[in-house]
Amino acid sequence: MLLEGKNALVTGGSRGIGFQVCRILLENGARVLAVSRNPVSLMGAREALPGLLTLDADVSVAADSNRLAAWVQDTWGRLDILVNNAGVSPRGGAELTTQRDDVFDDTFRTNVFGPYSCTKRLLPSLLASDDPRVVNVGSSMGIMSPDMRGVYSVSKAALHALTVATANELRGKVVVNALCPGWVRTDMAPDAPGDPRSSAEAALWLVTQPRAFTGKVIQGRAEVT
Ligand code: NAP
Repeated sequence: MLLEGKNALVTGGSRGIGFQVCRILLENGARVLAVSRNPVSLMGAREALPGLLTLDADVSVAADSNRLAAWVQDTWGRLDILVNNAGVSPRGGAELTTQRDDVFDDTFRTNVFGPYSCTKRLLPSLLASDDPRVVNVGSSMGIMSPDMRGVYSVSKAALHALTVATANELRGKVVVNALCPGWVRTDMAPDAPGDPRSSAEAALWLVTQPRAFTGKVIQGRAEVT
């Protein structure tokens, strides 16, 4: 049991990649709290994964992240693994110069503010761990390239930058990396060829790397240059 006795929180844990991350962390002995906005999907996740703990919260809302941090502090007193996985991808209307401002705002609130806010608010609990780890779920679409388009890519590029900057700030205290999970079949990407279980395996690999391995953006098991 690689993660026996560890406490883990997975945002967006009710379905898709986050659900598979919850599953693999539980299988490896961790206590796992799954967080998302919809209590009905959280109930479904609980039924599918015995032992899973759940809390409904919206990571784009600071008051909800405060509630999460209070739950972790009061219930566990320590957090070993934080997986900032919750993310949204606006359907259609993703042209930066013509889309509505609220589409841009909502995407950034979940994909960038959410991981920033959860990491910041959960930091006291992370610092109580002897080996704290943060994984931000990024995207290959956020890797700087001449073909980048749309707010989703811009938000994931910002998340990769947030990962490196947070890792630098917390070096020697908390290990912080980003994982590009591959193009895998979920509600967000129903036509994708990949299996979200492979993304979960990559997340498990990442949280078991040596502590010096921090501030990286990982795709598969390789560092993105
Ligand atoms: P998904 O199936 O749509 O699941 C998204 C999860 O995030 C759900 O549990 C959703 O639950 C939760 N969520 C969304 N907004 C939230 C918020 N504001 N607060 C709390 N929870 C929220 O998507 P997925 O494909 O598993 O994606 C997971 C992550 O991987 C995302 O960050 C995505 O950008 C990234 N990613 C996915 C792919 C892919 O091919 N699937 C590729 C690259 C990167 P509720 O809606 O109930 O809140």
